[in-house]
Amino acid sequence: MTTEEIKARLEYLRGEIAAERISQDEIVELQGLADHIDPGDTVLLEWAGVPEFDGPPHVGHWSRLGGTWYCDTCDSPYCDLA
Ligand SMILES: [Zn+2]
Repeated sequence: MTTEEIKARLEYLRGEIAAERISQDEIVELQGLADHIDPGDTVLLEWAGVPEFDGPPHVGHWSRLGGTWYCDTCDSPYCDLA
């Protein structure tokens, strides 16, 4: 993939995260692209499984609607740091 294609792919994956419909396969793909993620892009880095040593602690709440734990820091139900 070219740098342009990787960028486009990362933006697509960001959209999937925002829409809360990223799949396991896409998370694996994101992990494969971790080296191309901007160091300040904490959302994508976290989803790629890159540890954030200076990041804020994750605060979550139980989502009655989703019937699942929801991380307010990541704005996502998939975080396991909350
Ligand atoms: Zn989180």
